[in-house]
Amino acid sequence: MKDPINPLLLDILACPKCKGDVRLNDEKNGLICDRCGLIYEIREGIPIMLIDEAKTLKDRGGSGR
Ligand SMILES: [Zn+2]
Repeated sequence: MKDPINPLLLDILACPKCKGDVRLNDEKNGLICDRCGLIYEIREGIPIMLIDEAKTLKDRGGSGR
């Protein structure tokens, strides 16, 4: 399995809302900000770091696997 996003890119990305760290979700199709409870979608390898475009974690039916 290959990562759709460069780990180095992950390192410099930050939540636009709280400026905190984000992490890759289990599906590797989004970046999670735990502080805000938001997921920033990754589309075609490009993270959409926009608050307006982010989804809340609750929309995804809880955390875990
Ligand atoms: Zn945040």
